[in-house]
Amino acid sequence: MKDIVIIGCGITGSLMAYELSKYQLDVAVLEKNNDVALESTGANSAIVHSGHDPKPNTLKARFNLEGNRMFPDLCKELQVDYQQIGAFVVSTSQEESLTLDRLEQQAKERRIPYARLNREDILAEEPHIGDGVTEALSLPTTGIITPWKVTIAAMEEAMENGVALYLNHEVKGIKHIKDGYRIFTIYESFDAKMVINAAGVYADTIAGYLEDVAYQITPRRGEYYILGKLTEPIVNHIIYPVPSSRGKGVLVVPTIHGNVLLGPNSEPISDKEDVSTTDALNEVKKNVIKTVKDIPFQKIIRTFSGLRPTGNTGDFVIEEDENHSNFIHVSCIESPGLTASPAIAKYIKDTFVAQKFQLIKKESYQKRRPDIVCAHLSHKERNQLIQKDSRFGKIICRCEQISEGEIIDVIHRYAGATTIDGVKKRCRPGMGGCQGGFCSPEVLAILARELHKDKQSIEYKGKHTEILPAKAKEAL
Ligand SMILES: Cc1cc2nc3c(=O)[nH]c(=O)nc-3n(C[C@H](O)[C@H](O)[C@H](O)COP(=O)(O)OP(=O)(O)OC[C@H]3O[C@@H](n4cnc5c(N)ncnc54)[C@H](O)[C@@H]3O)c2cc1C
Repeated sequence: MKDIVIIGCGITGSLMAYELSKYQLDVAVLEKNNDVALESTGANSAIVHSGHDPKPNTLKARFNLEGNRMFPDLCKELQVDYQQIGAFVVSTSQEESLTLDRLEQQAKERRIPYARLNREDILAEEPHIGDGVTEALSLPTTGIITPWKVTIAAMEEAMENGVALYLNHEVKGIKHIKDGYRIFTIYESFDAKMVINAAGVYADTIAGYLEDVAYQITPRRGEYYILGKLTEPIVNHIIYPVPSSRGKGVLVVPTIHGNVLLGPNSEPISDKEDVSTTDALNEVKKNVIKTVKDIPFQKIIRTFSGLRPTGNTGDFVIEEDENHSNFIHVSCIESPGLTASPAIAKYIKDTFVAQKFQLIKKESYQKRRPDIVCAHLSHKERNQLIQKDSRFGKIICRCEQISEGEIIDVIHRYAGATTIDGVKKRCRPGMGGCQGGFCSPEVLAILARELHKDKQSIEYKGKHTEILPAKAKEAL
């Protein structure tokens, strides 16, 4: 019997696994997809919010603030990027300035660093700010991350330290057994003393396997444009409009790698799998130009959408089930869920896990191996690497300058890539201007060779997304 089974490997599941891997516990993570971080964690604004926005006395407010303070050290520990670029919440009317007053008051009460800026101050830092913008609340502790990199690194380190990850293991049922639970997946069943439900938009379905649940989740879809890398930045900070009852509004967000996200909108939908992009993106364009002008829309390289796991409770649900001891809900984790995730993981460990198990630190704890990023190396370092292994000299992705050696490295790590999207998320081939037009066939061939698989069985992203349906010449 496992000590703990975590259902779901988004950012909350992986950070709990990472936190628990430091202790002498037998932990498994069950994930329905063929990679980690493919759901909400894979499609969002990637912001570590300062904590100014959530309603007072909510779990969102508490864990947002705590998570924001934890992120810089967490990213250092996991050796992934974090940039504290700061944010401006901008106002375009007197009425909106009243909302800024409220946010300023909340920032003050929560001891979040802030400053109120007039139009002149804003223009000095953001020359492309919209003509209608009158003032802003500056929140310098706002940061950006690459959410799937945090998840992959956390899971890699957790696995280095004994946590087991079962991909393609969709949970289909749960029942009580003596001293715990039996969790049924499409392949096999797992017995565990404690279950943590971190299944994103499906957390209500998972909870429903045991009883009628007290919460329902309705996904709220958010759609985005991505701009390719610009020679001159269009913004230096994250630009938020003032929030409304529908959320934080349409943002302009620089990414870690020099792209810009425009979005999201907010649309409740019924299908928990529907991540299509629609003509609602026109609304994104219309709204975004109110806060930032001169946006080079001709530089759009891609659109995408993500689903927020919005519960009917108005807040995160993070608690032990009332009727089922050691069944822990980590549910309704919509925004600011990324920001809150390290604080949630620590709270789960300190509160529920520490109550049930004796927490003894592992004596030998292994750090994950740092990523090999040739673009970060000097000429000398790179030449040394190529002399040891010539595959680091063979460029596969011309846009992002990614070598074959880097691709092979991310395939053979713990929680390694098995799909084209998995390679793209880990080391960036396909993230550039051509969006994989040139390098995808080569990445596919490398995956097939390294994983000893047929090329036809290599998937793009998610299950049943094979690119090559048949061997064309043989068919002829
Ligand atoms: C448009 C948008 C913008 C956002 N922007 C921000 C932001 O800027 N900052 C911020 O802090 N937050 C933001 N968020 C919120 C944030 O993305 C989420 O709160 C966070 O990613 C939730 O992580 P999670 O691990 O709980 O859920 P998920 O990432 O959804 O992970 C749940 C996992 O459970 C798995 N699963 C589901 N059912 C089963 C099953 N039956 N068996 C096994 N596995 C299963 C799924 O496949 C998935 O991998 C945004 C969200 C969206 C959609």
